[in-house]
Amino acid sequence: MDPNVGDFEVADVLVEGKKIVAVRPRIDAGGAKVIDARGRIVMPGFVDTHHHQFETAERSFLPNGLLQNDGSGSPSASPNYTEHVLRGFAKVYRPQDVYINELFAGLSQLDAGVTTVLDVSQIHHSPEHSDAAVQALMDTGRRATFGYFESDGREGARYPEDARRIRDQWFSSDDQLVTMVMGGELHLGKEVYTRAWTIGRELGLKVVAHAVGAFGMRPTLDEVAQGTGGLQVGPDNLFIHMTGMSDETWKKIRDAGAQVSLAIPIEMVMRHGTPPILKMRELGMEPSLSSDVETTMAADPFTLMRGAMTMQRMLVNQLVLDQGDPVPPNHWPTPAEGTPSLLTVQEVLRYATSNGAEHLGLGDRTGTLTPGKHADIVLLDTTALNVAPLNNVPGAVVSLMDRTNVETVIVAGKVRKWRGRLLDADLDRLRRELEASRDYLFKTYGMRKDLFA
Ligand SMILES: [Zn+2]
Repeated sequence: MDPNVGDFEVADVLVEGKKIVAVRPRIDAGGAKVIDARGRIVMPGFVDTHHHQFETAERSFLPNGLLQNDGSGSPSASPNYTEHVLRGFAKVYRPQDVYINELFAGLSQLDAGVTTVLDVSQIHHSPEHSDAAVQALMDTGRRATFGYFESDGREGARYPEDARRIRDQWFSSDDQLVTMVMGGELHLGKEVYTRAWTIGRELGLKVVAHAVGAFGMRPTLDEVAQGTGGLQVGPDNLFIHMTGMSDETWKKIRDAGAQVSLAIPIEMVMRHGTPPILKMRELGMEPSLSSDVETTMAADPFTLMRGAMTMQRMLVNQLVLDQGDPVPPNHWPTPAEGTPSLLTVQEVLRYATSNGAEHLGLGDRTGTLTPGKHADIVLLDTTALNVAPLNNVPGAVVSLMDRTNVETVIVAGKVRKWRGRLLDADLDRLRRELEASRDYLFKTYGMRKDLFA
């Protein structure tokens, strides 16, 4: 994934300690331990730039649910995400629920080859909740960016001021797998988000916020982007979704060097608005990809990549067909000048690896197999029943593979998954703890469990 290093049909990756030392054919490394990767694609681990890991106990709870109740009385209106997850389940989480939910989600993504994540935890009801989230990210043993977002605003919650303590206590060193960003949500109101952005920037943290037109956030982001609200958008901002935003704001965001994370499958299914993938193409911007919520969609990188690929090409293909006629002879038109180009698998792979690393401020550490960077590496099995024979490497990864093809996962030089098995995790015990947390959350919130709803 590093154009300066290039791609190889056959080559070696030399790792020493945490770091990649060399990537080239026929490295002679003396007595180094060798992993035989014949028949495997060796590539950087995937990066997910927005995942709400604390919601794992509610996996598949909202297979039909929209962001909010639209008054239709349909199964998609209720239960819904705002009412039943953010203002429902989230209210009854204890610190131990935060811990097991975060840990289980992290191990699951590690198993699927996601070696780096931005965890958007909006569950900071108390300092103990925050500490449980950070501890779980650290115990997962993968690269993670802890997103310090809000609570539900209850008494005793210390957002955003507690960012200072958290930074001092957990993140005094930058040389660790888990780093920190500041959440600065625009829907919290001007007073709160101004404080959050200011504290985040004082601490040298990136400032991350959702931007969803369907949540009524367009006027607020307009004001922030224009700089008339006392804040400036900068290269330290990452905005999530960006559905339904104005053209002026898009230009400001681009010119400021801010980044955008798209959760394409979730945006399409939960009514965030059409993912702005063509808008970004028009402006010469590239997104990173994110899974968002497992209440409603899988969090593996293959789902995200295929979501981007199919969605962008559906839009462009129909644009091109509409330039012709449904009736021959002009039924297969040549795209007119100015038509957006079709997304390629090479671009999608970049979205899912190096773009994510750059967007989290980790581009000097991960995202590509580059000598000097940390060894975050996945081995993908091309001999598997669903992949062989191999004819195109990025094509196999984006178009054919799924998490069962992720055979070995290495984070900062440490093997975390080996030949199909996650290491150092008692998954049966952790699953029982997650189920106990799920039972507690459903009971305390008063939600009946219905497996066929
Ligand atoms: Zn989100």
